[in-house]
Amino acid sequence: MKTITLNTGAKMPLLGFGVFKIEDTSSIDVALEVGYRSIDTAAAYANEEIVGKAISSCGIPRDELFITTKLSNTAQREGRAETELDESLEKLGLDCVDLYLMHWPVPETYVQTWLTMERHFKSGKAKAIGVSNFLPRHIAEIKKHWSVIPAMNQFEMHPRLTQKPLIELCRTETIAPQSWSPLGGGKDFSFKEQLLTDDVLVSLAKKYNKTTAQIILRWNIDLGIVAIPKSVTPARIHENFDLFDFALTPEEVSAIDALNQDHRTGPDPESFHNFF
Ligand code: NAD
Repeated sequence: MKTITLNTGAKMPLLGFGVFKIEDTSSIDVALEVGYRSIDTAAAYANEEIVGKAISSCGIPRDELFITTKLSNTAQREGRAETELDESLEKLGLDCVDLYLMHWPVPETYVQTWLTMERHFKSGKAKAIGVSNFLPRHIAEIKKHWSVIPAMNQFEMHPRLTQKPLIELCRTETIAPQSWSPLGGGKDFSFKEQLLTDDVLVSLAKKYNKTTAQIILRWNIDLGIVAIPKSVTPARIHENFDLFDFALTPEEVSAIDALNQDHRTGPDPESFHNFF
């Protein structure tokens, strides 16, 4: 497994397993058997207990796992940013998480909340802290106050939304970029279908004898972006992990970059903070 080094010095697998809407341990069990070691959950997914069950029964030593969870918008709005991590840790059955992310920049609270995140980091309950769905202006705002630089910004990214300016800014600030919905997400079926049958991706898939989903995930890895695809189908969980026997050329990476249409399939950080 390829890794990136976070600004804390910790290593994080470049490929993880996203568990949004996963309601039992079976697909997490498969992912851990296949070789995934990084799991991305959130308080808002209401499945931290399920993740906890899977990791306690898998027999893999804790220090070989990389567990991420996220502070919910509800906790931010209700003044529970200080305490929600304890609840998450209890559900996960862990003393600390490897990465704790602020799920969305709730306008009224995100700057204050970042200072709470720093306290979680200093307490040792979060070995690294970061943000999610932060636009450049949100990063600029917390930068005025931070004493800990976020280790990660997790945001929507796929070949129709390549996020180049945001990635460049993150890199300048030593914030690692991470893509969510790397395969186009699970909501807009026709968008995902159109993405996975794109001509450029189909021709690369033929060249490497891979699927278009694997080409997209490999594009993330070749860009040094952490990807966390989700699936409940064992064959796809295997497929999404089978990426380490080929690499795209720089020209092929650029050809995928050129598919950008600045198209969001998920919610816009400018307006989504009222949910979760
Ligand atoms: P995704 O791009 O991983 O797509 C998942 C969908 O693609 C599923 O419906 C699945 O059936 C399908 N799929 C999976 N593998 C496939 C394959 N090989 N071929 C064809 N189809 C395949 O989308 P996602 O679940 O939205 O995102 C992944 C993870 O990112 C989530 O599980 C979650 O952990 C995280 N996430 C974070 C945020 C955030 O706000 N921070 C938002 C959305 C998702």
